[in-house]
This record gives sequence, C-alpha cells and structure tokens, in this order.
Amino acid sequence: MDTFAGGTSGIKGALKRAIPAAHHFRLRILATRARTLARFPAYRGDRFECPFCGRRFGAFLPDGLTLPVFRDKDISVGGYTEHVRCPWCYSSDRDRLLLLYLRDRTRIFSEALSVLHVAPEFHLTRALRRNARLRYVTGDFSAPSVSVRLNILALPFRPAIFDAIIANHVLEHVVDDRTAMTELFRVLRPGGWAIFQVPVGLALDRTFEDPSVTLPVERERVFGQFDHVRIYGPDYVDRLREAGFQAEAVPYARQLDPAVAARFRLNLREDVFLCKKPA
Ligand SMILES: [Zn+2]
Repeated sequence: MDTFAGGTSGIKGALKRAIPAAHHFRLRILATRARTLARFPAYRGDRFECPFCGRRFGAFLPDGLTLPVFRDKDISVGGYTEHVRCPWCYSSDRDRLLLLYLRDRTRIFSEALSVLHVAPEFHLTRALRRNARLRYVTGDFSAPSVSVRLNILALPFRPAIFDAIIANHVLEHVVDDRTAMTELFRVLRPGGWAIFQVPVGLALDRTFEDPSVTLPVERERVFGQFDHVRIYGPDYVDRLREAGFQAEAVPYARQLDPAVAARFRLNLREDVFLCKKPA
C-alpha cells in the first residue's frame, strides 16, 4: 500500500516540492541571491526582515499557486502571495513563523532535547543544528540527506523516546493520516510536544476528502497540490485529539505585535498546530 499519495515516484516529487532536497535548495538560494544582487534597487530598504539571515529588504519575493481552489476553499497557505520569500536566503513565511514560534515558546534552541524532525525543512534544520546539545533525528520516506529513512505509518523507533517532534506539511500527503498520527503519538514521550503544520481550508466546515480523486492532475485541481489527498478543515485538531494528543491551533502570528508580524512578513492566516502528549 502506498503510504503517500502517488506511490514511490509521487512521494519523491512531493518531497522535492514540499521539502526540496538540500542540494537543489542550495542552488535555488544561490540563484535567488544572484538575481537579488543584479536587481538590488528593487529590494533595497528595511520594510521586511528575515530572522534566518538577519537581512532587511524593502521587498520580498512573491510565491505560491494561483489555482482557483486556493480562493474557493480559502486555503491558509500555499496560494499566491506577494513578499513571501526572503530574497537573500529564500526563507518562506512558513519557515519564519516556525522559527519565531520555536524561539519564543520552546527551549529547542538551548536545551538537550531529543527531537524527531520528519521531512525536515532546509532553513529550520540548519537553525536547529546550531544547538549542539540537541539529539536531532531527521527522517523522511525518500530524501537522501536524512538520518533515518522512515515510513510514517510504522515509525522505526521505540515508544516514548522523543521530547519533541516536528512534521510540517506531511499529513496532508498521507492517505491514512490517522495511523500516522497514532505513530507520532506513540514515539513522543509523555509530557512531550509536537508541531504538525498543514494547509487548512478556512472556508471549510470540516475536512474535505475524496478517495476517488487519485490522478495527480485532479488532486491538484481539487486539493491544491498534485500529491495532496485532502484539505483539512477546522476539525483537524479533533483528528489529532483522536490520536491522543492535546491539540490546539495557536494563532501565534496574530498574538504578536502587528508591527513585528509585518516586519517578518508572517502569514496571519497560518496557526501553529501544537500537540502535547499528556504526562
Ligand atoms: Zn533570509
């Protein structure tokens, strides 16, 4: 059975899109930087600041898709937006939200935590690796640069061994997401926390799934990406709770001073999906 939509080739494509392989990403960053320098007057200024590279610019780069489903379902992330990517290090608004949240609300950058990072994002991984005390395990279905190849439906770990788990933009790719949630719950220690970001259809009353939609071109039209199998609704946290988590949608970007959220160009529509395992 395919764990992820689209089978083996699908997951490779999926991860290249969602979490590009590190070497692809480095090339992308270099190309972005060259382009920014060549057109520097367009980016000069201090309206926006990137917390990854620490640089300030008058403009960030636009990013995102223009498919009608993003408007129709009011999908929280991934739709076309101005000023999304840092023109120097190519961080996204998603990356910046997580970095600021983790710095502000957790001790992941200072303490000797045991952390599992599934489908690790380039920028966040580099930031986390600066904490030399972290026992940091990266895992992915197919990406070559991770420490453990894993199937999220049967994680290759003993129960309750991680203090924290990060698995962003993974569950919307997984057909049997409830089993994946149960597995993530199993390997988290009691008292531990996890973050599982997903796109959410803000116009939806509940999660939209249709198992008859299997062709990549149809999935793109219906779910917003060729390898997504659903659009979560406001009941996403309920599904996480069914797996045992104490789950909440933390409106972190909206809790910040609006000037700070604007300076780091955060997406005010994206909540942080925080899960805790009862102690
Ligand atoms: Zn940057």
